[in-house]
Amino acid sequence: MFDFLRTRLREGTRTSPFPRGGAEFPARFRGLPVLDPTRTGPEGPAAPSALLTTAADGRPALDVGACLFSPEEAGTGPAGTVAFTRDHRMASSTRAGLVSATGEVELAHALDREARRLFGRSLRLRSVVAGSCGGCEAELVALGNVVFDLARFGVQFVASPRHADGIVVTGTVNRNMRAALENVIEATPLPRLIIAVGACAIAGGPFRGSPEAGRGVEGLPVDLYVPGCPPHPLTLLDGLLRLLGRLPAERLRGGAGERAMAEGAESVELLQPAGAVDAVAGEAVGAAGAEDSVKRAADVPRAARGGGAGARPLTGGER
Ligand code: SF4
Repeated sequence: MFDFLRTRLREGTRTSPFPRGGAEFPARFRGLPVLDPTRTGPEGPAAPSALLTTAADGRPALDVGACLFSPEEAGTGPAGTVAFTRDHRMASSTRAGLVSATGEVELAHALDREARRLFGRSLRLRSVVAGSCGGCEAELVALGNVVFDLARFGVQFVASPRHADGIVVTGTVNRNMRAALENVIEATPLPRLIIAVGACAIAGGPFRGSPEAGRGVEGLPVDLYVPGCPPHPLTLLDGLLRLLGRLPAERLRGGAGERAMAEGAESVELLQPAGAVDAVAGEAVGAAGAEDSVKRAADVPRAARGGGAGARPLTGGER
């Protein structure tokens, strides 16, 4: 008994103080990508990346949801300089919130009052692995360890969709898994949340374009998009806490964040602008590629996709 107490005293508390600190990362950590269009260079070899895309106005834009966070995606090309910051905060409530001219992300905003009342202090999630490499699930498992300790926020994973308040989708949602995913969604009682974790679930990831791999959760009423390949556990945790309104409202700085706040969001915060780059590595990024799915997602109002608590059954068109 005394040995146990002695060990506890010697070891101290290993759980991260997050969200009140504890978000320090090593220099090699690749967080939120940013684009500085003023720093251009000669055309280099095109990187195999969907990160650089074309906005509706024809200008280059960064699609953080498609980012694989690989060194090859950073560098200087004709569209500007792409670099990685060490900012882990990048989960968004909308697909369009992950696309901007500089990499600025519209961070997730809190669910409405009723959904927060239902889920804010107790949320049970069912994981659906829909064609994943396993990396994203490893980070989901890490969320439960002593460092991140997801359960202290009242969030836990359960074995059955019938016991769940929402589902977490990882993987590209390949052809064989699409029907299984839809069955799990239908089996989850309303109101329910749908959370897309990782580049595969958001946009197909490195398997994008393969005839067997799907384009992730495209067409589903998603409540939270968590970029990464895989996302860092703190990126996931930050997004979840923002969604549940468990982070305090923070000071906003212009643009999309202010608009979201004006629309009633309580916990939105814009990230550092493109000038605040502290890590650049890798090859030049090639010319922008058109990305119509981003435009489509932006065109569909959130309410029409069953946003908020995702509180509606799938329609025939979504199946
Ligand atoms: S996003 Fe990356 S880590 Fe996650 S399943 Fe896809 S390839 Fe694996």
